[in-house]
Amino acid sequence: MQIILKNHSLNNLNTLRCRSVAANFIELTDIDLLSEVSDFIEKTNSKFFVLGGGSNLILPEKYDGLVIYNKLSGIDCIEEHSEYVLIKAMAGVIWDEFVAYTINKGWFGLENLSLIPGTVGASPIQNIGAYGAEVADFIEYVEVYDIQTNTVKQINNAGCNFSYRNSIFKLRPNYIVIAVTFRLLKDAILNYKYADLSKCLTDITNLTALDLRNCIIKIRQAKLPDPNQIGNVGSFFHNPILNNAKVNPLKLAYPGMPVYILDDDNSKVSAGWLIDNLGLKGFRQNNLGVYPKQALVLVNYDSSTQTEVLEFARMIQDKVKAKYGISLNIEPIIISKGG
Ligand SMILES: Cc1cc2nc3c(=O)[nH]c(=O)nc-3n(C[C@H](O)[C@H](O)[C@H](O)COP(=O)(O)OP(=O)(O)OC[C@H]3O[C@@H](n4cnc5c(N)ncnc54)[C@H](O)[C@@H]3O)c2cc1C
Repeated sequence: MQIILKNHSLNNLNTLRCRSVAANFIELTDIDLLSEVSDFIEKTNSKFFVLGGGSNLILPEKYDGLVIYNKLSGIDCIEEHSEYVLIKAMAGVIWDEFVAYTINKGWFGLENLSLIPGTVGASPIQNIGAYGAEVADFIEYVEVYDIQTNTVKQINNAGCNFSYRNSIFKLRPNYIVIAVTFRLLKDAILNYKYADLSKCLTDITNLTALDLRNCIIKIRQAKLPDPNQIGNVGSFFHNPILNNAKVNPLKLAYPGMPVYILDDDNSKVSAGWLIDNLGLKGFRQNNLGVYPKQALVLVNYDSSTQTEVLEFARMIQDKVKAKYGISLNIEPIIISKGG
């Protein structure tokens, strides 16, 4: 059996920089280790979760189960056609390195998802999205190891049940994503209509996917805190999707509130605006704060605990509820002590 480390610190393995220790920890470098991992879980009756880049997690001070640290690596072009390629990346590949690799090869589609932290294996879990694109649009299928049955399964795009920051995988903790296969185009169809992007691209003629990537990287670096400098998990709350009957009176009360109409019944409201309009941008309490440049991002200035982070978030949720009658849901996954 690959060595299982005991009482392993996760302080530097989560971008929110929460203080955290795992009772058991294994680095997954080979798929063959998974049957042994499964035996360990069964014998010790342990809870477990897969850790990728730790950029969408709020970890507890002490995790009683097994952390499977995904380091599966490798990228392979498995089919090449005149118009598209199927490219398979192992789950531990760093997401942004994969995006850069595909653009460099002349395979397009992922450029709008540049600089999102984390791993390829986590990308389908919450259907990562940014700048008008979602990873669901490019996933052909996801390969998972089912830790309950010790079998490998291939789940096609429809089977993943993708929706806004959601997928079937959130309901299937027994699935460990081992690889994701993407369908990428050989001729770029660039998606640059998003407001911030068109402004940044005005001086560029003959726009390429690399230009688009560079522009997105520039915008993201200006707007979002670098997790290497300040602990954060990107957007802390989902943008609430509300019935138009609820949104219309709010629009009258707050004419400046950005509202994105989704269909005849529903609209999406900017959670960042709701928090900003409460005057909380830049607000700091002890080691936690609302990022001064983007109110949707909560920051951990020092090693806060999960309890402290959730208390701070609750204070913001309560203020938003009291002012607008809207409940904000937390976007990152909250790992509890025992699983
Ligand atoms: C500065 C910053 C900016 C961000 N911007 C965006 C953005 O624009 N859009 C966006 O969608 N997200 C964004 N995020 C959130 C985050 O980067 C993504 O959710 C990312 O996909 C998480 O990847 P990870 O490898 O770090 O996953 P982790 O945080 O390690 O894990 C997240 C969840 O996925 C599960 N998981 C991870 N790997 C596997 C696997 N192989 N098999 C099964 N389950 C797995 C974990 O158990 C956990 O439940 C941002 C985060 C930060 C810090």
